[in-house]
Amino acid sequence: MNLILFGPPGAGKGTQSELLIKRMNMRQISTGDLFRAAIKNQTPLGQEAKGYLDAGKLVPDSVTIGLVREVLSQLKGQSFILDGFPRNVAQAEALEKLLKDLNLKVERSLFLEVPLDELLSRLAGRRVCKNCGAVYHARSKPPKQDGVCDACAGPVIQRPDDKEEVVRTRLETYEASTKPLKDYYKANGLYVEVIGLGTSEEVYERISKALQVKAH
Ligand code: ADP
Ligand code: ZN
Repeated sequence: MNLILFGPPGAGKGTQSELLIKRMNMRQISTGDLFRAAIKNQTPLGQEAKGYLDAGKLVPDSVTIGLVREVLSQLKGQSFILDGFPRNVAQAEALEKLLKDLNLKVERSLFLEVPLDELLSRLAGRRVCKNCGAVYHARSKPPKQDGVCDACAGPVIQRPDDKEEVVRTRLETYEASTKPLKDYYKANGLYVEVIGLGTSEEVYERISKALQVKAH
């Protein structure tokens, strides 16, 4: 099953994608992760994307869609989860065309719902390993040793775009651009919604149940 995962920043898309790819043998396509890797490796794509990520704004559609086209073209029949793409209606329309061109099909567009106060506390407390990307939370899930990754001993830091001023911009971008995707996917019958509160296992349970029922 090919899947779109969308929702506000901090809803837990990355965490759930990781569980899904491990347990359901899918391939994760996270545009955010791809941009961050490109920035780390200082590729031309990374140089183009960096300013937008730092500011919490969307990378221009032409760049993002080109990137997704490249990844989807190289899939070789593997099921995939689109995590963080599409993020606005123009990207959703471009995706439809892309899927048609590549003879691929998305079966569900799953919206992960989390209330604003919870999002704010998750984003403010989120810490990530600079080296392996493992995700922690300053209060609810700190690494065993302060600032050191449990998995790889790399440095655990705050993502630059998790700083308070940037979080505000990201949430505004979400409200204006990404939220309208709910109606877009409701209209084409792919939409399912899951509440992203509770432990990641609880949310995963809800997701796997939701994927078994028919979309509406
Ligand atoms: P989050 O969902 O927590 O905001 P992501 O890692 O998905 O974090 O995205 C981080 C940043 O990467 C976004 O703020 C944006 O700058 C860029 N980005 C990711 N996906 C897209 C996309 N589909 N279109 C444009 N920009 C994107
Ligand atoms: Zn690590």
